[in-house]
Amino acid sequence: TDADDCVIDNTVVERIFMPREDFTHKGSFGKVVITAGSYGKIGAAVLATKSALKTGAGLTFTLAPACGYEILQTLCPEAMFMESGDRCLTHFEADEDAVYGIGPGLGREPQTVVALIKFLKKYKKPLVLDADALNILAEDEKNLRLIPENSILTPHPKEFERLFGKTDNSFERLELARKKAAEHKIYIVLKDHHTQIVSPDGTVFYNINGNSGLAKGGSGDILTGIITSLLAQGYTEEHAAILGIWLHGKAADFAAEKYSKESMLPTDVVDALSHAFEELN
Ligand code: AMP
Ligand code: MG
Repeated sequence: TDADDCVIDNTVVERIFMPREDFTHKGSFGKVVITAGSYGKIGAAVLATKSALKTGAGLTFTLAPACGYEILQTLCPEAMFMESGDRCLTHFEADEDAVYGIGPGLGREPQTVVALIKFLKKYKKPLVLDADALNILAEDEKNLRLIPENSILTPHPKEFERLFGKTDNSFERLELARKKAAEHKIYIVLKDHHTQIVSPDGTVFYNINGNSGLAKGGSGDILTGIITSLLAQGYTEEHAAILGIWLHGKAADFAAEKYSKESMLPTDVVDALSHAFEELN
């Protein structure tokens, strides 16, 4: 490890956290576009959208296929719906004012692949890429060059392997992540029991909260919503990743206390975000 590497503890996040100011309005807290969902995986869009809302974004949109319209408007009434495609996402325009979190439940239909690649050719601001957005990027090495600088990628071990190749152990994986983060000027969030954030300059931040109650489908979708929301609110990429991962783990620890690691659901983790924020306020 390098001298600058650090463990994410309370002191670290308290320094990063920006309390919500009084003289503000919804325009002060950014615009999020959660780009997610396909037929049968609208739940992923719901979870990412809800967590973007519960993390404090000023305006939250969900860009999803038409089959998710009623579900999203019902389960996330505070979010606005933007339609693209019928059962999977097709063409979508780049809104330079918004911060995008792309990937949960997206699927990999050919139309979705084309749409994402076209979008990345136009959009140049840092964004959050997760799940099927990463799997789509992994289909062709040239795609990696389209990722805007300072974007945050949140692969789980399997997605990391698809993107950057196989390694023999977690030490080698971390070294490969350092190399790739520097090469592409991106943040790589290696999601695991102890998640590691690798910054473009090679610094590694180690997370130590969270628990195995998160080992369930949907947990990662929440993280995407949280980090995208923080980015939209003006946190730097590094701070959004660090604070986001801490909030996610802290909320999960509250959910485990209340419901047990077995029974807690990602939905409970979203609800527990309020307790995680209480720790900071
Ligand atoms: P995903 O695989 O995309 O749903 O992401 C899973 C999320 O849950 C990541 O943020 C992981 O760090 C977290 N997670 C999964 N399993 C565990 C575990 N055993 N202990 C702590 N965190 C976990
Ligand atoms: Mg995931």
